[in-house]
Amino acid sequence: MSRETRNLSPALREYLLSVSLREHPVLRQLREATQGHPESRYQIAPEQGQLMGQLVMLMGARRIIEVGVFTGYSALSMALAMPEDGRLVACDTSVPYTEVAKGYWRGAGVEGKIDLRIGPAAETLQSMIAAGEAGRYDFAFIDADKERYDTYYEQLLVLLRPGGLIAVDNVLWSGRVIDPDNTDADTEAIRAFNAKLHKDDRIALSMVPIGDGLTLAMKRR
Ligand code: CA
Repeated sequence: MSRETRNLSPALREYLLSVSLREHPVLRQLREATQGHPESRYQIAPEQGQLMGQLVMLMGARRIIEVGVFTGYSALSMALAMPEDGRLVACDTSVPYTEVAKGYWRGAGVEGKIDLRIGPAAETLQSMIAAGEAGRYDFAFIDADKERYDTYYEQLLVLLRPGGLIAVDNVLWSGRVIDPDNTDADTEAIRAFNAKLHKDDRIALSMVPIGDGLTLAMKRR
């Protein structure tokens, strides 16, 4: 009985996790190790990682791009869901964070599926387009600097095949998107990005209230 999305209390979310989360032991280790990290808010919720893994399986995705790796939880969630011959191009600027990520990818036996590219993601994606990789990717995840979300989105739309899916993290931005007093650059960028996608006929759109808000944008066939 609901025409609205239920707001999860902490106890109800605990219940949701207790009856649905099937976290790979290395994912669990990584999540627990990152909990004490000063930037631990960069890590996605475990139920979100599981949903993204299921989307990867559902689509039979073999070619994935991630923009924003941090310590590698989301990449590991997707890599575990890919077939052996799947490849995930992981873009990040941070060597220290991705060194942590690599250790866990190795621990889970998926390091061979992940192609880490250190450098500004917009340059990496541009070089992939220039190398003739347009239309060759199945799935992408954006979780990086909010002011460049639109740049990454446009580049990934080129790199995705028709029917491919772009997942975008933090689209509810802890609720700051509806605070009129909040006009900082990140918040404004997310507002503008959300408004743009709402009107973008190139995609089929859903905004899923999981974690900090996850947009699913499917490139139309
Ligand atoms: Ca995020």
